[in-house]
Amino acid sequence: MMMTTGRAASWGVAPFRAVACALVVAAALPMAESKAPLMWPLPIHEGCTSSFGEFRSTHLHMGVDMRTHQEEGWPVFAAGNGRISRLRREPVGYGRVLYLDLDDGRTVVYGHLCRYSRALGLEQRLQEACAAKNSSFPGDIYVSPPASVKRGDIVAYSGQLGIGAPHLHFEVRQGDDACDPFTEGLELPKGMEAPVISGVAFVPRDASGEVDGSFRPACVAAVAAGPGRYRLSRPVTLSGAVDLMLSARDHLGIPDNSTGLSKVSALLDGTRFFSMDLGCISFARSPYFRA
Ligand SMILES: [Zn+2]
Repeated sequence: MMMTTGRAASWGVAPFRAVACALVVAAALPMAESKAPLMWPLPIHEGCTSSFGEFRSTHLHMGVDMRTHQEEGWPVFAAGNGRISRLRREPVGYGRVLYLDLDDGRTVVYGHLCRYSRALGLEQRLQEACAAKNSSFPGDIYVSPPASVKRGDIVAYSGQLGIGAPHLHFEVRQGDDACDPFTEGLELPKGMEAPVISGVAFVPRDASGEVDGSFRPACVAAVAAGPGRYRLSRPVTLSGAVDLMLSARDHLGIPDNSTGLSKVSALLDGTRFFSMDLGCISFARSPYFRA
């Protein structure tokens, strides 16, 4: 049996049935799937504090949160060539938002900004919208004609509006879906390494399940077996219906950080019996995922 993960963290649950196994697990960095590379949108590569697909109280996290050293005011760059046609100012949620429509049809969303680019006329557009609606929170603001930008142009400045600590929320959308920015071609944070797998728990699902001849769950540590590869510290004998729980974490470029699992597959004698790949998540389905 083998298990592989993309970016990984915390606990994943994979129901399965098997009889006796020596488990091998492997972890890997994400692979961009022939998508146009996306520029890291900050001048500092300090990793991410939250990953794509993490559980929130009422939905899934639809982007990644980039560290800004608890500071506001870092320039935010266009991740690719495109046009800015929409801004949004709201009291909660993403606070100040900028939508960049890339030339390839995808949309990049930046959240919690403190200010838009004056050079592009965006800050003026917000002030006009506030005056027109006599409100500090005018909601959606459509930029017409759209502001054309090149990859690397400054489009805004990072902040903390709409939420607590300063950071940059970065999201990639395709139609009605949000997609993992790292599999969409976003540069990896400096210092990013493959996920770390710490162990597997085997839990009898019902009266038919046994682990090492017992109805009690067993937690078995994973030990390094090569770069990005792990094996169980001891063999485990299973029978009946047994659930498998993986303990793994991904620091996303920040030591001691632990972020959510985005991709897992499990193979028994070379045949995949379970897989999870958050990849892209529709906004319509996100509220159905609850922590
Ligand atoms: Zn976020």
